[in-house]
Amino acid sequence: MSKLPNISTSIFTVMSKMAAEHNAINLSQGFPNFAVDEKLTAIVSKLAQEDIHQYTPMAGYPPLLSKIALLVKDSYQRNILPETEILVTTGATQGIFTAIQALVENNDEVLILDPSYDCYEAPVLLCNAKPVRVPLNNDYTPNWETIEATCSEKTKMIIINNPHNPTGKILTETDFEALEKLLEKYPKIILLSDEVYEYITFEQKHISVHTRELLRNRAIVVSSFGKTFHITGWKIGYLVAPEHLMMEIKKVHQFLVFSVNSVAQAAISAYLEETSVDKISDFYQQKRDYFRQLLSKSRFKLLPCEGTYFQVVCYEAISNENDVDFCKRLITEHGVAAIPISNFYENGKDLHLIRFCFAKDNTTLEEAARRLCKI
Ligand code: PMP
Ligand code: GLN
Repeated sequence: MSKLPNISTSIFTVMSKMAAEHNAINLSQGFPNFAVDEKLTAIVSKLAQEDIHQYTPMAGYPPLLSKIALLVKDSYQRNILPETEILVTTGATQGIFTAIQALVENNDEVLILDPSYDCYEAPVLLCNAKPVRVPLNNDYTPNWETIEATCSEKTKMIIINNPHNPTGKILTETDFEALEKLLEKYPKIILLSDEVYEYITFEQKHISVHTRELLRNRAIVVSSFGKTFHITGWKIGYLVAPEHLMMEIKKVHQFLVFSVNSVAQAAISAYLEETSVDKISDFYQQKRDYFRQLLSKSRFKLLPCEGTYFQVVCYEAISNENDVDFCKRLITEHGVAAIPISNFYENGKDLHLIRFCFAKDNTTLEEAARRLCKI
């Protein structure tokens, strides 16, 4: 008996393990390999000597809650109440799991766009609810007509991920207008907006649900300091939601983790005073451009990348293998690890696409590209 018969070990675990076993350059799982800001490590060393080792209040370390409110205000001109509308979580993953557990009921339907990141489906299934996948268009824009045709009285939640993992697509003003119309038509639907790559967008600016009055009063917005400050291993994220939703989410959170790592919260709180999120997009845009330039000499076809630190490529000119086999051979024969895109689709749709993470130092990107250009 299994509660999740169709869920297996995450592709990120599988590919990172295989990369380590074969000593391959790991561009599969999304995490930076460069040093974190020295200011942050200095804060951690100093804080470790201080009295910050016991439970924080359940919703989060109070100074951090205030700093998050300031960050949201600075970034999106939205006023939120630190005491009632923010929850610090053990990464975005726990925030998403907790929100779904708290708000989705037996037999509800939850709309998930296809392809999508892998952490939405299992929590929906564990609620005895139904994940309903709606395909994105071929250019990865949402098809609002199909989405609307799929909505019904049974739909409890729509999950969006913007900027989008794995495709790097970002939503436009027109998308938000369509979404607003849809939610006006279905007043009971809750929006879960996964915006963990909010500070990593390139030519177009990120439009956050925080800036949309019609949406934010019915939405849980998900952020991750893991992405923003290149510290994925710290596992610190946060949710912002109106109080009536947050009250329900906190009921689950208190019995799932109660509270989140105190030292990490205090360190991020202090760091927020010394840093800014303004330069993150520029930093990753340089990485994206450099990686794309390096790969332009290869036989991989590069898809557009508007945000996130992922580059999707098509390997059709190189091989006819399915993307999982291709990724395995890429590790064993060429020493580079990537993620097969079929894993982001409900039915494992194979389009001969794979994803590389370019959140790496330039030496790593250069050596990976050198290997990839030889194929
Ligand atoms: N959402 C998306 C789209 C992600 O790519 C990730 C992981 N990188 C997460 C959520 C989870 O973030 P965290 O590591 O903070 O749990
Ligand atoms: N979000 C990361 C990615 O897309 C993976 C995180 C994880 O392994 N859970 O690569």
